[in-house]
Amino acid sequence: MTAWQIDYVVKNKFSRPGHPLLKVLGVVMHWTATPGATDENEKAFFDGADGGGSRYASAHIFVDKDSARLIIPLNEVAYHANEKPSMISKLRASTSYYTSGNANLNTIGVEMCVEKDGTIHAETIKRTEDVVAELCRQFSLSPENDIYRHYDITGKNCPAPWVANVGAFNEFKTKVRAKMMPEVIVESIANSDYISKTLTVKTDGLWFYNTPRWDVKGGSSAKGNSFIVTEELRVGGYRMLKCHDGKYRTADPLHVDINPKPSDWPYRVNIDNITHAEAVDIVQLIGTNYKGAKVFGEAK
Ligand SMILES: [Zn+2]
Repeated sequence: MTAWQIDYVVKNKFSRPGHPLLKVLGVVMHWTATPGATDENEKAFFDGADGGGSRYASAHIFVDKDSARLIIPLNEVAYHANEKPSMISKLRASTSYYTSGNANLNTIGVEMCVEKDGTIHAETIKRTEDVVAELCRQFSLSPENDIYRHYDITGKNCPAPWVANVGAFNEFKTKVRAKMMPEVIVESIANSDYISKTLTVKTDGLWFYNTPRWDVKGGSSAKGNSFIVTEELRVGGYRMLKCHDGKYRTADPLHVDINPKPSDWPYRVNIDNITHAEAVDIVQLIGTNYKGAKVFGEAK
């Protein structure tokens, strides 16, 4: 299932000229700045021989709070970022039919619809995250490096809320990245014996994670730092501990110590100076009584 429905406008020189995109190097974010207009309204507007009031303007995808509509094929040029040559040098492309070095030739334009009160609805932004995550997957783009505001391309105040607040734009890119990552199974352990105990870092530069997943590192903690455990989880089957600073850390005894010791804390026991026969007895004893224990030995 795609994040958008296909609803192409007819070819016309103003909104859908039919020129091929040279390649897709980025996604350019816009807002429609037309309060109350839905993606259905926008499609109807840009359709027909006059392509939306005989103005050279369009975008590939329009998103509102309940649907998203692809009105121009993703391998064709839309006129969405061409007020002047691109300010981003890698997007400055030109062709025989287009000589100004503009980003329309190598980007996809995504428009967020605007509510009657002039804001972008939270559901519209969420749906747009899904749309752009799918575009990034489809065209092997990086959310951190390949998503632009119209403002970044030409200096236009678009999308205005993200020009006024670049933090909201950065948050959008973070959400897109999160939506591109494979799902992991996260399980919270009820009545965990780890809660309220102290985790102390044993390895300098131990990774922590901002969310319960192992593949996105949030930063590192120094050896000797201590944290109170607030939650025990299984993330992809491995024990992860949420700490009082809101960060997640491993429970691997190679890297952390927990005090007091939880009931299932794994120990490593070395027994020196015993005979071969005694060692065999111990291995059998452990094998019988401790499920999952691994016994290693070294012959003397
Ligand atoms: Zn724009």
